[in-house]
Amino acid sequence: MLEVQNLNFRYKKHNILENISFSAKAGEHVSIIGESGSGKSTLLKLLYGTYDLNQGQVFWNGEEILGPKFNLITGPNFMKYVAQEFDLMPVISVSENIGAFLSNFYPEEKRERIKELLEVVELTAFARTKVKELSGGQKQRVALARAIAKQPEIILLDEPFSHIDNFKKQSLRRSLFKYLKEKNITCIVATHDKDDVLSYSDRMIVLHDTKITANNTPKHLYNSPKDKLIASFFGEFNVIDDRIIYANQLKVVKKSDVMAVVKQSYYKGHYFLIEAELNAEKVFFEHFEILHIGQKVNLSIEKNCL
Ligand code: ADP
Ligand code: MG
Repeated sequence: MLEVQNLNFRYKKHNILENISFSAKAGEHVSIIGESGSGKSTLLKLLYGTYDLNQGQVFWNGEEILGPKFNLITGPNFMKYVAQEFDLMPVISVSENIGAFLSNFYPEEKRERIKELLEVVELTAFARTKVKELSGGQKQRVALARAIAKQPEIILLDEPFSHIDNFKKQSLRRSLFKYLKEKNITCIVATHDKDDVLSYSDRMIVLHDTKITANNTPKHLYNSPKDKLIASFFGEFNVIDDRIIYANQLKVVKKSDVMAVVKQSYYKGHYFLIEAELNAEKVFFEHFEILHIGQKVNLSIEKNCL
């Protein structure tokens, strides 16, 4: 179990993180979300022991994770960290990079393990390719495979799919997160992508203005977003009578007391996002077909949460 107790940190004068406390059990998947600059990467680096804390402590199964002042080698051996900027060995192959930290005493096992890891990150076809010849997204996949090669107890992932294109992202995400769950590896993921969170995270921690402003299940935070920051993470929304209403909860109906005038329709594949004006304010709602500018529609709020 990971325990973070009252962590405080600043690089220079200003506090970056204040009074950060949370825990994560074995095998738990926790997402850290927050705007760019909110301290997600800093928090992961602190969990890994990259810097000394100004205050507070981090423990894994009761063992304290210490910073450079108390520890010559950064990063305990039960923990792996995949940075936003990954560092690989460019002139050797994908397989050799993935196997770099695996024992050479058992070559057969090593080969099998590399094969399995190549499958998890869907790079089997590139096993013999030199890393310097790979794209950014492919390199990110090599870094992920290398991090899970020795089966850490806990893995810290900083925006793990940020360089990976949409064609590959969905299946890689499924395959990696499924693998971590199966092996009961605790996973802390810094992300600003709701697709990393909704289907996979047990908990979602929101960082804002140096503090944790929410720590709950994605389902709870989706259904009851307590502020605009959380709602905006999940999608387009409106504030109506001080309540947050997602665009997909606002429906066109035949009759209602609320009338809006269509300003714009945006094609979204299986629906249109409609921008309209209601009492001189912008509202957004989803509709199954295009609506034309100037068209008047009646709207009604429907709670359609799962
Ligand atoms: P996020 O990952 O959420 O985008 P970061 O943890 O990278 O946020 O950054 C949090 C804040 O700390 C930002 O204001 C950033 O400018 C600052 N920061 C990050 N790294 C350093 C550093 N090495 N030295 C000084 N300030 C830093
Ligand atoms: Mg970051």
